[in-house]
Amino acid sequence: MDKSTKDKTIIDVKGIKIGLKPVVIAGPCSVESEEQILHTAKFVKSCGAHMLRGGAFKPRTSPYSFQGLGIKGLEFLKKASEETGLPVVSEILDIRDIQIMLRYVDVFQVGARNMQNFPLLKELGKIDKPVLLKRGFGCTIDELLNAAEYILNEGNPNVILCERGIRTFENSTRFTLDINAIPVLKEITHLPIIVDPSHAAGKRSIVPPLAKAGLAAGADGIIIEVHPNPDNALSDGPQSLTFEQFEELMRDLRKWNLI
Ligand code: PEP
Ligand code: MN
Repeated sequence: MDKSTKDKTIIDVKGIKIGLKPVVIAGPCSVESEEQILHTAKFVKSCGAHMLRGGAFKPRTSPYSFQGLGIKGLEFLKKASEETGLPVVSEILDIRDIQIMLRYVDVFQVGARNMQNFPLLKELGKIDKPVLLKRGFGCTIDELLNAAEYILNEGNPNVILCERGIRTFENSTRFTLDINAIPVLKEITHLPIIVDPSHAAGKRSIVPPLAKAGLAAGADGIIIEVHPNPDNALSDGPQSLTFEQFEELMRDLRKWNLI
């Protein structure tokens, strides 16, 4: 396929058109309780977010860390979606969960650790919901595009690419956000590209500048971790924005015409 000449792909998620104008996807790293996700969903919606994120199945580095609420988490997420009207993005870890997740999520997230899980990608190529494909932290842009091809080849045209930071020698942040990837991908693919500053940063104070940089570089949106009480979050608390920080970021993004 000649990626450079094909028209830009616009992905419609319940009326939110990804690829047309920048979208903000926000929510906690993990769904922790019904109250936590509902409260967060209502807040991010009031600030102007377009979609809600929240993990029910968590790919934790340690098997002893919180692994997510599973199906119960998906139920809470759906309830929050119905109450706010925000479509939901949630991560799929296991090919065996595709059918059940189809009932609850609007966009399937493939995490960095599964970017090259080809059997999973092929199965997601057969569903009729969009896939948000995160770049593996040790993977090149070419490998990301080839991973996307596994989904596209099976007939699902709705793939959203996500730059979430790569591993470099720099250790003052969790990962290094590869801003280059945004304009590079814009030149060679028709697929929308969003930026995840939260996982790249690992630290909440530097999430807002990375979010702005990503949008200024031409990203089609951002996906941000927000938590009502980040210090007590069950995953990724240090990089989760407080409600106040998220509100301020949204104000800035509007002021700077980035969204
Ligand atoms: C997440 O979105 O919470 C997550 C685990 O992201 P990544 O796969 O980019 O590490
Ligand atoms: Mn996370």
